[in-house]
Amino acid sequence: MQLQRIAIAPSQVRGNTISLTPHQQHYLYRVLRCQRRDRFIAMDGGGNWWLSQLTGDSQAEIVEFLDANNELPVAVTLAAAMPKGSGFEEIVRYSTELGVTRIVPLQSDRTLLQPSAKKRQRWQRIAAEAAEQSERQMIPEITEPLSLAAYCSTVSDTIAISHRLVAVARADVPHLAEMIPVSGEIAIATGPEGGWCDRETICFQEYHFQPVSLGKRILRAVTAPLVALSAIAAACESGK
Ligand code: SAM
Repeated sequence: MQLQRIAIAPSQVRGNTISLTPHQQHYLYRVLRCQRRDRFIAMDGGGNWWLSQLTGDSQAEIVEFLDANNELPVAVTLAAAMPKGSGFEEIVRYSTELGVTRIVPLQSDRTLLQPSAKKRQRWQRIAAEAAEQSERQMIPEITEPLSLAAYCSTVSDTIAISHRLVAVARADVPHLAEMIPVSGEIAIATGPEGGWCDRETICFQEYHFQPVSLGKRILRAVTAPLVALSAIAAACESGK
């Protein structure tokens, strides 16, 4: 039987008991019409899934730990320049379904969006919903918006030069599919509607990011991250 997955915070678990938030109680009892003793899967977003049973209005008991792993073998940090409108919400939702590990909203020179704290909370909620829906164990972290220089300096501490990639349209460069490692960590950056400006191209060069193509067609700023994630997932999961 297909069980509903509910994202919980690690702090909600004490021993074998899960304390449910008012929002989760409403969702389980009112929206899903669950009853006491009904079961669901609680996921803490950090890799744990527990088969759980409702024992009271505000509590559930952990029945057993579920040994599942639907995560990509490569940790992927996607730094995506924020497109206008609600485009970043689409990027968060779909790249979570595709297996992204961390999403960095990039404040590029051609980005107009100045997201509020409320907007960032909304992105994190969308990531949690998409992780539940796509049966993932991890909920991707959405970092605070970063300038390109700030992002590049964080990556340079953690990710190998050969795994730092930047998507560049209209360039004669290797396809992303040729550059994907089978394990470890990879960083991929995608640009805004107007593309990267010269200053940003120089910044990527300074931090040894390698330009990659996503094919011959010019993709929208919302589409490019999803094509990149799809290529990474296909390469990793087909055992290339
Ligand atoms: N106006 C830009 C130009 O003409 O070069 C196109 C920008 S595109 C709408 C937005 C971003 O998506 C680009 O900065 C790049 O990161 C990525 N992108 C789009 N199509 C791509 C492709 N075929 N290969 C690599 N990256 C691509």
